[in-house]
Amino acid sequence: QARLLFPLIAIMRVALDLQTSGALFARIFEYLDLRPAIVDAPDAAPLPADTPRLGEVEFDRVSFRYPDARGEERATLDDVSFSIQPGQFAAFVGPSGAGKTTVSYLIPRFYEASAGSVRFAGRDVREIDRESLVSHIGIVSQETYLFHATIAENLRYAKVDATQEELEAAARAANIHETIVTFPDGYDTVVGERGYRLSGGEKQRIAIARVLLKDPEVLVLDEATSALDTISERIVQQALDTAAHGRTTIAIAHRLSTIVGADVIYVVERGRIVEHGSHAELLIAGGAYARLYAEQAAEPSATGQL
Ligand code: ADP
Ligand code: MG
Repeated sequence: QARLLFPLIAIMRVALDLQTSGALFARIFEYLDLRPAIVDAPDAAPLPADTPRLGEVEFDRVSFRYPDARGEERATLDDVSFSIQPGQFAAFVGPSGAGKTTVSYLIPRFYEASAGSVRFAGRDVREIDRESLVSHIGIVSQETYLFHATIAENLRYAKVDATQEELEAAARAANIHETIVTFPDGYDTVVGERGYRLSGGEKQRIAIARVLLKDPEVLVLDEATSALDTISERIVQQALDTAAHGRTTIAIAHRLSTIVGADVIYVVERGRIVEHGSHAELLIAGGAYARLYAEQAAEPSATGQL
């Protein structure tokens, strides 16, 4: 399948991982001449800091089709509705290609719903100034992009004026401080392409430190540990648990072991939510989730993880 938008996705992934500047998005999209797709409504306004229910994320009958999807194809998201309360831990599970990542793209308005409404803090996201919207959302995805710059600079993308103490506090909470201080130049070690090589787990923990510095109301974890080996997965998972504490967390998970404790689990198949409930409720229901869980429990590679 041709992926005409692949470069765009790559750039967006970079931007996603920066977890920061709406201005940067604006520049990227301007460059790609895609602005019309994401312009703010004329009356779009920033969310005031005292907005009630910051961290509430709702989809109201949302359907979505990628702009380059061929005409007769079914919609990527089809009539999706859910309501995630501030501070809840919600999980999205389901087969690859079901539309889970796409759900996460619509929240910061990287794409706009073709029908229905995506709401943040009770407001349609089209009515929220994008830079403001993005400032409330942090994303850790499977691959983390690091600039060819120092670790300190990479962290400061999330908070330009962060002090060294703040950087270290975030790095400690992300289980990465002790590792950083063993690098040749500590926080001043240059990483990224052509820089000091970090392992996948180290990169993920730096991404988590960034998110902690940003301190968003909503945290999206898109298979954040799926590229890691079991040992670094465990360390990164601990850091993610810290990061999720006290904020709305939307975890997209391939391995169900990381989300069994979620307040609510949404099972996505072919662009639709086919079931939702707690782990226990969904097991009792004996539907798609129960089958997914049984399949994973039977996989030899999953032994000890469930
Ligand atoms: P999941 O995260 O559940 O694996 P995705 O949300 O990534 O699924 O993808 C859902 C569907 O949308 C898939 O069929 C995928 O091929 C398609 N898709 C994803 N990104 C794009 C894109 N940029 N353009 C066109 N189709 C896309
Ligand atoms: Mg995905």
